[in-house]
Amino acid sequence: MNDLYYDGNDLGLSYSAAECLFKVWVPTAAYVSVALYDDAGEYDAAGMVTSQETGKLHPMKKDPHTGVWSTIIKGELAGRYYLYRAEFADGTKTWAADPYAKAVSANGQRMAIIDLAKTNPPGWREKPKPPFAAGQWQDAIIYELHVRDFSIDAASGMNHKGKYLAFTERGTTTKGGVPSGVDHLVALGITHVHLLPIYDFSSINEFAANAYNWGYDPMHYNVPEGSYATDPTNPAARIIECKQMIQALHDAGIRVIMDVVYNHTHHTGTWPFDSLVPGYYYRMTDAGGYANGSGCGNEVASERPMVRKFIIDSCRYWVNEYNIDGFRFDLMGLIDTGTMRQLTKELRAIDPTLIIYGEPWQAGGSVLPKALQTITGAQKGLGFAVFNDRFRTAIKGGSDDNSRGFASGGTAKEKGIVHGVMGSINDFTEQANESVNYVTAHDNLNLWDKFAHSLGKNSAVKSVLLANGIILTSQGIPFFQAGDEFLRSKFGNHNSYKSPDHVNKIRWKNAGRYREIVDYYAGLIRLRKEHPAFRQTSRADIERTMKMLSAQDMGVSFILTDAGTASAASWRTIFVAYNGSLSPHTFTLPASVPVWQQVVDARRAGTETLAKVSGSITLPPLSMAVLRE
Ligand code: CA
Repeated sequence: MNDLYYDGNDLGLSYSAAECLFKVWVPTAAYVSVALYDDAGEYDAAGMVTSQETGKLHPMKKDPHTGVWSTIIKGELAGRYYLYRAEFADGTKTWAADPYAKAVSANGQRMAIIDLAKTNPPGWREKPKPPFAAGQWQDAIIYELHVRDFSIDAASGMNHKGKYLAFTERGTTTKGGVPSGVDHLVALGITHVHLLPIYDFSSINEFAANAYNWGYDPMHYNVPEGSYATDPTNPAARIIECKQMIQALHDAGIRVIMDVVYNHTHHTGTWPFDSLVPGYYYRMTDAGGYANGSGCGNEVASERPMVRKFIIDSCRYWVNEYNIDGFRFDLMGLIDTGTMRQLTKELRAIDPTLIIYGEPWQAGGSVLPKALQTITGAQKGLGFAVFNDRFRTAIKGGSDDNSRGFASGGTAKEKGIVHGVMGSINDFTEQANESVNYVTAHDNLNLWDKFAHSLGKNSAVKSVLLANGIILTSQGIPFFQAGDEFLRSKFGNHNSYKSPDHVNKIRWKNAGRYREIVDYYAGLIRLRKEHPAFRQTSRADIERTMKMLSAQDMGVSFILTDAGTASAASWRTIFVAYNGSLSPHTFTLPASVPVWQQVVDARRAGTETLAKVSGSITLPPLSMAVLRE
């Protein structure tokens, strides 16, 4: 079975108005047919189709050299549906999904046949993406966001609540008149939105109005999720509206990164893989069970040739069909490094500006040999980045406990901060933009809750600003979670993957209530974007321009000299200091600059001069400062 390999690019359905070509890799089946349906079928109360037996079977023919079964069905088939019917030598018969399906019915119960060319919004192929330089991933400022959380709040000001189309709404405001939605993102200055899963996931019933899930339970990898569409029963709607969302973000100057979960599937024994080639797509234990490095019951065997091909084909499809600008790999520690290397190379050949990163860990005991795991350090020189949990822990402490990090008065964290601000080039990276610098994402307590838990609410605001202030002034790729910039709380819920909207939703009134916090984030983002000193990446540049001045007594300070281009000529030297202690901390300023101009203090951030300072500067508890020549 492992010997049979197909390297064509036409698996799945190739549609034309005159005929449809179906191709599916099923090397171990005795017979395979296409089951063609006139409609989406009858649904039960749970949103599942009651019977698949009504399909008209069209036999397929096997290529013995590749294991691919194929057939051509003549005529215009748009509007109809299909499954595969596989029969095995032991008499087993299955109704199978097409892993390469491009469109599906509600709840993904049948594959839908549509003309994809009719799903493109006007200008889809012609409009350029927002500018972003190839290889300069440290220029990105990534904002992690869930489609439903973004707009579902009654006070979001957006009409298409919980839907892709909310991203197409401009000029929206909160009840207090503060910009919301995409206008908020534009004002904030982020460059990339990272969307939690938008491929079709299976945990929620698309007919239910209030179902909630993050979506880390993949079913149809190459189809957008239906619950975010205005009509999940119209197979084209989710595709058109997902494209409209991406186009609207591009029109707003924001690129779109997709969260992809190729490390496990929601179901085994059935769709998307096992009903076609039982066992092939998963790693098995010696005892014959599914290995469970994902903590979700299975792990996908990315190292097998047709699995690796599937993962790369799927990403390529999202780039080509949906203009996606990057990928975040869930539990990348479970994807073998050979796959990540080949995938990065092949995708960059299509679009050199793509950004690729992932979680360099697992969630259980994987059977993948350690040497093949894409864990921290494995990314060196391969063109993709990893989440930096070492820096994260140094800044905030443990994710869900009440331990303290540098930004919340923790002791002995200075060394971890120094490593992190230098892009971890003296730790695990080859160059700084292999590190995604972050303190919180959707998992675990969010930032406000974590600091309120470990330090108390009175100091939590300061810790929030210091923590993401460090992230935004460090070498590497900065990343933060939606709503951090107005103190988003999930009320101490550290794993809200299926919690209701009132836990997860972004409360837009807080964008007005905490205006000063939003302004601080926006000011730091502006500073980072205007001054390339904060966006270096090569080891040589960082070693030449960064000089650590102090890293003791819960304080860290450094200067950046002659970093960047002529546009920053008036900023030949930049001084940065972080005070992580609960007391004031005095830092000595280099005497090489007689009078320093302060642009970031404990409450304000940006590029304008706030004060002139000489000799030394005393920072209030839990705060940062940036000064320039
Ligand atoms: Ca779904």
